[in-house]
Amino acid sequence: MKFKDIIGNTELKTQLINSVENNRLSHSQLFLGKSGGPKLAFAFAFAQYINCTNKTPSDSCGECQSCMKHNKLIHPDLHLVFPVLLINGIKKAVSDNFAKEFRQEALNNPYLNLHNWFDVFSSENKTGKTGYIYTQESDNLHKKLSLKHYESEYRVVIIWIPEKMQTVTSNKLLKLLEEPPQKTIFILVSENSEILLKTILSRLQILKIKNYSSKEKTEILQNKFPEKGVIKLEKSLIYSDGNLGDAIHVLESDIITDDNFDDFQMWMRLCYLVNIQEIVKWVNERTKKGRRNQSTFLKYSLKMVRNCLIIHFSNRNTLNITENEKKFLSKFYPFIHEGNISEISEKIEESIKNIERNANSKIIFYELSLQLTILLKVNRKFVE
Ligand SMILES: [Zn+2]
Repeated sequence: MKFKDIIGNTELKTQLINSVENNRLSHSQLFLGKSGGPKLAFAFAFAQYINCTNKTPSDSCGECQSCMKHNKLIHPDLHLVFPVLLINGIKKAVSDNFAKEFRQEALNNPYLNLHNWFDVFSSENKTGKTGYIYTQESDNLHKKLSLKHYESEYRVVIIWIPEKMQTVTSNKLLKLLEEPPQKTIFILVSENSEILLKTILSRLQILKIKNYSSKEKTEILQNKFPEKGVIKLEKSLIYSDGNLGDAIHVLESDIITDDNFDDFQMWMRLCYLVNIQEIVKWVNERTKKGRRNQSTFLKYSLKMVRNCLIIHFSNRNTLNITENEKKFLSKFYPFIHEGNISEISEKIEESIKNIERNANSKIIFYELSLQLTILLKVNRKFVE
């Protein structure tokens, strides 16, 4: 990846390039930025720039032997460390065992977040485990860094989401940062530096990476999905709460359709009317769609329900929703209030977890609908 492939953050590009040009390359750096931002993309572009053999004052060449390998993230002096899952069949929970999948995901979606990454393993990860950078990882890294460089002047270690390091991993990394191997650059790519050990943090040069504006995000999506209309792209951002990584993820899985809104309206009506016969039919139809589609639909429903509360207590014009959604919610919101919101949210969240754990989705939707028929009838204790 070249710097020119990343839009925005112009000052940061200049700063990074100057640090190489002026021989002021810090050996341990923290690229800090929000989820869905371009921080990992910057780490890739910077690593490529550092080792490019034909670099210009503004970018790597993209064509030398080193760049060609960096383009595919397969350069032997580029070490990628990231959280991994302890799933069946994995003997050693280290990044190297997941490198192929990670390269594929990160090259396709350099704005990816942890959810997008773990989603790759959703079929093997039935219990919804969360991943870590395990202790074995630091042993592995120690071993690799004790070897000679393969072909470049610098060796670059990119640690993505270091806040997922187990404590022992952190302590071992600290040792590496305290006595860094020759010509080795560590780039920690983090979303939340507060979770990192203070002792690690104090050794890092911190670079804050600005997240994109809505306009920039739409531009990136347009470049990536020229065949999809702007309305669909903008809608994907609304669905994803502005997280670019999620937006790319939903656009690729093609799980974003207007069906979610239509289905939600219909579902709420049937639940309110306690029309059991029609609810059963609705559940049968809804669960014909795939599991990922079902969990996206429930996440969408959760958001709509929470929007109702925002309408009660805040300005409805601040809501990031479509005109049709606004129309529906302006009639529906009085049924959701402080007397039932917590329980409704909990039930939906629980159902999402169960769907993702491969439980029987018909039963989940049916039970949830029955609970909603009761919860939607709970009256408000006081009136505005
Ligand atoms: Zn090059």
